[in-house]
Amino acid sequence: MWDFSTEPEFQEKLDWIERFMEDEVYPLETLDLTPEQLLRATAPLKQQVKDAGLWACHLDPELGGQGFGQMKLALMNEIIGRSLILAPPIFGSQAPDSGNAEILAIAGTDEQKDRWLWPLLDGSLRSCYSMTEPGAGSDPTLITTRAVRDGDEWVINGHKWFSSRAAKADIIIVMCVTNPEEPPLSRMSMFVVPANAPGVNVVREVGVLGLGEAHHAEVIYDNVRVPADHLLGDEGGAFVIAQKRLGPGRIHHCMRWLGQGRRAFDMLCERALTRVTKGSLLSEKQTIQNWIADSWAEMQAARLMTLHAAWTIDQHGTSKARTEIAGIKFFGAKVLHDVIDRAIQIHGSLGVSNDLPLETMYRHARIARVVDGPDEVHRVTVAQRVLKGYKPHEGMWPREHIPTRRAAAQQKFAALLEESTNDL
Ligand SMILES: Cc1cc2nc3c(=O)[nH]c(=O)nc-3n(C[C@H](O)[C@H](O)[C@H](O)COP(=O)(O)OP(=O)(O)OC[C@H]3O[C@@H](n4cnc5c(N)ncnc54)[C@H](O)[C@@H]3O)c2cc1C
Repeated sequence: MWDFSTEPEFQEKLDWIERFMEDEVYPLETLDLTPEQLLRATAPLKQQVKDAGLWACHLDPELGGQGFGQMKLALMNEIIGRSLILAPPIFGSQAPDSGNAEILAIAGTDEQKDRWLWPLLDGSLRSCYSMTEPGAGSDPTLITTRAVRDGDEWVINGHKWFSSRAAKADIIIVMCVTNPEEPPLSRMSMFVVPANAPGVNVVREVGVLGLGEAHHAEVIYDNVRVPADHLLGDEGGAFVIAQKRLGPGRIHHCMRWLGQGRRAFDMLCERALTRVTKGSLLSEKQTIQNWIADSWAEMQAARLMTLHAAWTIDQHGTSKARTEIAGIKFFGAKVLHDVIDRAIQIHGSLGVSNDLPLETMYRHARIARVVDGPDEVHRVTVAQRVLKGYKPHEGMWPREHIPTRRAAAQQKFAALLEESTNDL
């Protein structure tokens, strides 16, 4: 069986994170800072996290992380996720840099790590991941961006969009077709493209749900030339790298959603115990009690599923946890969305106002159901993998009613049936 207890030394670290969030991170949320001011304000906090041995914990120790394993990461991220926007960069685990660091860690040569991974980890390099195309999103086999070998260089041509932070990045990891004659999942390769290379054209930045500044870029790669040593891993090996990176990456989102959902739930409960309408507290009205009970049960289920997925990765590896990861990705996003929705509703007009963080949390929760694979794609994965454990029935259905089986069962339990009749 699996066990959620953690050793006392790690509990001390969790307690440190709780205090740090309370004293340093939440107060920052109340300020309306420019990106530059935010960078300045968070620099000393990042140092405190490094000094506490809690920087970039998703990576192995030889890569500057802590090698805690997924169960401990889950407990940590649950606290960090309460401040979904501010805390991950302070803890060295901000997307897309965190995922790109994992790609470089998985696939990079020593030289590539020196050049891009270490600067990425210490925050002196900013990165972007450029995979989605107008014609290819959740089905990566439809990607058309092409990289063709020309002497010692690769020449890249294609059209991507929703490449987050492309306009502000130093490097872009671009997914391209290099081997079109191979089966779909062995056709693609990843390249590190310097964002200032000639031919990298950011057409525009696309905003989503009115969240802050738009920074999801549409990018045209027009005869972009990169040296051969900018290829990551094997030619045709991009899909394998992406799978290795996306599995744990997805569950880290789910861990943080637990904290984000909890924060909304706390607000829901506090409001229920405070607000009086029509002669009684909201907490005394059955509809509100249903919201609290449903939210509690759904959050509890999401937490157990997340911890179970983390435990499965730790015990058996990411590939054995694919059903669990896909399951919590869509279930966790829905729970987060629904709990925040109820928290907004109980606050009435205040809930939809920007006096409270709930409206921003809600917009992020809505996006969570699309990014890193839309809900429907993960449901397909779960259903397909679950069905592998079944086979079509033979003969008549339902089998309990097949006359021969019924006769055999009657014979097997004849004595029992006779006894029961005698008892009467
Ligand atoms: C805020 C934000 C940031 C992003 N950042 C990045 C980034 O940095 N880099 C990057 O490369 N991409 C990024 N993306 C893109 C994101 O990964 C894609 O939006 C996502 O993969 C879905 O692709 P799509 O939008 O093309 O939707 P589509 O693939 O067109 O799917 C649309 C809808 O069709 C349905 N659907 C799809 N497949 C199935 C199926 N098999 N069965 C049933 N229904 C299905 C689902 O309802 C789905 O929502 C970002 C997106 C957003 C919103």
